[in-house]
Formats: sequence, structure tokens, C-alpha cells
Amino acid sequence: MSLTEELVLWTHEQKCLKAVASLVKNGFGAVYCATPQDAFDCIIREAADAASVGFGGSMSIVGLEVEARLREMGREILNHANPALSRDERMDVMRRQLTCDLFLSGTNALTLSGELVNIDATGNRAAAMFFGPRKVVVVAGRNKLVDGTVHDAIQRVKNWATPPNSRRLNFKTPCASTGFCSDCNSPDRLCRVTTIIDRKPRFTDLRVLVVNADLGF
Ligand code: SF4
Repeated sequence: MSLTEELVLWTHEQKCLKAVASLVKNGFGAVYCATPQDAFDCIIREAADAASVGFGGSMSIVGLEVEARLREMGREILNHANPALSRDERMDVMRRQLTCDLFLSGTNALTLSGELVNIDATGNRAAAMFFGPRKVVVVAGRNKLVDGTVHDAIQRVKNWATPPNSRRLNFKTPCASTGFCSDCNSPDRLCRVTTIIDRKPRFTDLRVLVVNADLGF
């Protein structure tokens, strides 16, 4: 590793550690992961006593490639992204995710003050993050960190997460064409449910893995 790479990694590490300290102060479980492999190992440990594992549709989780390992471990996988599912079957899986043993999700943004900010079209992912599943593990790559307010975090989502997400999902929104938010009123508008989790929800075991790598968008 070059000196430049080492210094960049160190700088990111300091931001990640600050986010972890803030999350702990806000009552969350929080772990610093130096690499995606550390996050993978952590998720596998968290799944030890889970019969069912729900996937919120996060590209960060997809990037960690945990699903195949969890299947090998005999866990029931609740993933509505399976293209073979009918609309009704997808809805059924999304409802069952709300009561699974372990729910895995990314987050659209994480402030250095320890607030999780998410924007959904349906709201199933955001809802499962704060109530329902017995345990929730959120993976936040360093690219999700925001050194600013909740408002800055919302701007981060609309500038950097929703445009590529709209494009990935083939939604006909202005941002899917231009890469910029125009606060649209499109029938496909993805920004319909905005959540701020600023303290650990009372009855949810919510842990955040802050990873010193870019994950998702
Ligand atoms: S409001 Fe519309 S244009 Fe803006 S980010 Fe959301 S979907 Fe895209």
C-alpha cells in the first residue's frame, strides 16, 4: 500500500470511529469493521441463532455476498428481490421480513452524530429497520457517512443514492436520466418515506457495522 493510500485509509478510519462512538452514545450497538470481510464475519456470527433472515434490498448487503453462506447454514432466506416471485409473493415476503429473526439492511446515510437516514418508495425496508424483526444489522460503508445534519444526510440520499437506485430499478424518474434530484412528482417517485433513527428503538436490537470501504451507493 502506498503512503497516500495508507493516509486516505487512516482518514476514513477516523470518520468511521467517530460515527461508531456517536452510535454507541445514542444507544445503538456499533462495530467498526476495517474490511468488508470483517463485516461478513460479523453478520455470520449474528445469524448463529436466527432461523430466518430478511434482506431489505440493500446493495451494500449484496456486495458482501452473505446470502449464499446463510443458505448453506440452513437459514430461511426472505429476499423479495428474487425475480421469479410474483407481485403477491413479493408482498408476502416483504411482510414476513417484518417478523424475521434477523433483518439485514444498508442505510442511505449515517451522520457522524450517529443518526440513520433512509428514503424508501414502499417503506418496507425502512419499517423493518426499527420495529418487527428480533434483531437488525445495518451495514454502513464509509461512503454513507455525512459530516453534517440530518438535512445534509437527506441531500446526500437524493444526490447520490436515489438517482442510481432509480436507474437500477428502471424507474422513470428525472434523476434516473439526469443524475440530479428535481423534487419530482413522477408516478415512479422513489422518495415517499423518509425515516430518521436518531436513538436505538426501544424494543429492537439494532446494530450498525461501520465499514472502512465503499459499499453500495
Ligand atoms: S424526488 Fe424524484 S427526482 Fe428527486 S431523488 Fe426522489 S425520485 Fe429522484
